[in-house]
Amino acid sequence: MSIAKEFEAKVNDSINKQSIYDTLDLSKIDRESTKTVGKTTSDDPHIVCQNVNVFYGEKQAIKNFSLEIGNHEVISLIGPSGCGKTTFLRTLNRMNDTIDNCRVEGEIKIGEKNIYDKKLNVMSLRAKVGMVFQTPNPFPKSIYDNVAYGPRIHRLAANKNELDAIVEESLRKAGFWDEIKDRLNESGTSLSGGQQQRLCIARAIAVNPEVILMDEPCSALDPIATAQIEHLIDEMSERFTIVIVTHSMQQAPRVSKRTAYFHLGQLIEAGPTREIFTHPKHPLTEGYISGRFG
Ligand code: ADP
Ligand code: MG
Repeated sequence: MSIAKEFEAKVNDSINKQSIYDTLDLSKIDRESTKTVGKTTSDDPHIVCQNVNVFYGEKQAIKNFSLEIGNHEVISLIGPSGCGKTTFLRTLNRMNDTIDNCRVEGEIKIGEKNIYDKKLNVMSLRAKVGMVFQTPNPFPKSIYDNVAYGPRIHRLAANKNELDAIVEESLRKAGFWDEIKDRLNESGTSLSGGQQQRLCIARAIAVNPEVILMDEPCSALDPIATAQIEHLIDEMSERFTIVIVTHSMQQAPRVSKRTAYFHLGQLIEAGPTREIFTHPKHPLTEGYISGRFG
């Protein structure tokens, strides 16, 4: 029996589907069975990744990854923990540059620009490609100063009035202005978790990004705060391209029309979220989805 068939049989037979990864010898999976299936291209690409490999020292964390992400698309990245989702996100704004032994190979273009071009200004790239993390991480500064931080560094405002306007607009776009406008001088860290996360989103928006990367942005939040962020993601997709890592099998279909499934550093399958969840083409995708739902 091929390893793919064996896997499928285990998925079908398993009572406790969560244990699939414990019982299957993944080292046996051959190249053929981890070839990407589904549609990895986009009709209107904003981000184009070609043959991307990422290493931490000797260890390879992303293997031969190719994917296009469309303008104003929301794409969910799913997969077991340790499969390289965060590593991939960090390649998109060169956050991996800050990790000593990390090496990136291949080509990544955002809006036609090769972001690994030696001449590229990494500071402006990180403004263009904002990131929101798992644990909300506002600066220990006022709410106003959190949002004004980026615009000040990038000199986006000529005077205080302009800066006020950027802060207000960013908080509005983060669905937060009405709730917070009378508390701008309070510390960002005094807010609730969900409010802190919306503040972090406003902070990312304040420097006019094109892309927003979100790494499990709701995993530390309660269901109400999660619903607010999910609603916000939907609204934000009118202005930004959004790449979101999620652990929640319920969240991916709520926020995104397209999903990519990662497994051990490889892109296994990409396609419409509904198809990935109802008719996955690859047995590894199916194993993950049914295990997580089971
Ligand atoms: P995920 O976000 O899907 O859980 P990660 O991208 O964090 O996965 O990790 C992918 C692989 O790379 C894992 O094996 C992890 O241990 C390894 N890794 C992640 N960050 C580092 C690092 N800074 N140094 C060395 N190895 C790392
Ligand atoms: Mg991660």
